[in-house]
Amino acid sequence: MLAGDLSDMRTRLKLQKAELQNALARIHKLATRDDLTGLVNRRHMEELAAMEQRRGMRSGSLPCLCLVDIDHFKRINDQHGHAAGDEVLRLFARHAAASMRETDVLARWGGEEFLVMLPDTRPDEARTGFERLRRLLARDEAWGAQAHMRVSFSAGLTAWRQGEALRDALARADHALYEAKASGRDRLIEK
Ligand code: GH3
Ligand code: MG
Ligand code: MG
Repeated sequence: MLAGDLSDMRTRLKLQKAELQNALARIHKLATRDDLTGLVNRRHMEELAAMEQRRGMRSGSLPCLCLVDIDHFKRINDQHGHAAGDEVLRLFARHAAASMRETDVLARWGGEEFLVMLPDTRPDEARTGFERLRRLLARDEAWGAQAHMRVSFSAGLTAWRQGEALRDALARADHALYEAKASGRDRLIEK
């Protein structure tokens, strides 16, 4: 009788532990990921960047940072509807992740703006990843039901400098992005 009770209690505790672990995993995902795209969210990216900065102080190597913004996204929403726009964001995120290295971190930084952090990468190497993405986006197969769409992006790339605050490096990337937009979009500019 007593042994049976104990065994039941152990089973219940095991179940509760598994449920708790699931709940913690769900909470962690909610806190660190963007719902729509599954990419790292802005807050978590700020934490990861701070970690890279500390790591960079020891190793002497800081990541490249690249702000990426979809071109004329408002037009996509207006012409095809918000749900199609959401699907474009999901697909864009998936293709961007597939085009980058596994060690690169991709975050949804704002509505249709992304921040990519590329550790141990020179700007010319970073450029290669974004060219790969550009080629991928040009394929109809990349868009499934939205195959009729033409989606391009503009990007501002910069190498994070030693001792520099994240916001200053990002301001430079943002200037580069602005130039990419102003000079015709569908391009990457490095500063
Ligand atoms: P540009 O080439 O200059 O970047 O033009 P744009 O139209 O992409 O830029 P703008 O910033 O004017 O528009 C961004 C649009 O993105 C406006 C906003 O409604 C839309 N947007 C932001 N977040 C979401 C989202 O989660 N889903 C959808 N479907 N649209 C979004
Ligand atoms: Mg845009
Ligand atoms: Mg934008």
